[in-house]
Amino acid sequence: MDVQLGLYYLALEQTYYHALKRLSLIYLRSNQCISYEVTPEHLTQIKDLIEDLALKLRSDQDWHPREGEQCDRCGYRQYCSAQTPNPEPLPQTAKPPRKVQLALPLR
Ligand code: SF4
Repeated sequence: MDVQLGLYYLALEQTYYHALKRLSLIYLRSNQCISYEVTPEHLTQIKDLIEDLALKLRSDQDWHPREGEQCDRCGYRQYCSAQTPNPEPLPQTAKPPRKVQLALPLR
């Protein structure tokens, strides 16, 4: 069960107070439907995965740029080591990195 479905499951469970037995992803463009049976093992797996991701997000200071289509519209290109061999240093007025605050009420 991937992270996306796991998050949907948890959100729906906490909104409607019902445990789902089956989840489906429907891809409208390809007209595909992929379904998953939800098992207690899946739930444990997704909660562990989300907890691990949340802890990494909170402590992650080591950021690596990922190039993609979004780079064409990015306002940080001149500072980005993935786009420029000699990136400009960040301006003195640049905001310091913010601490991430996460709130996931997992039961
Ligand atoms: S230019 Fe750099 S920072 Fe901007 S989106 Fe691309 S990889 Fe990310």
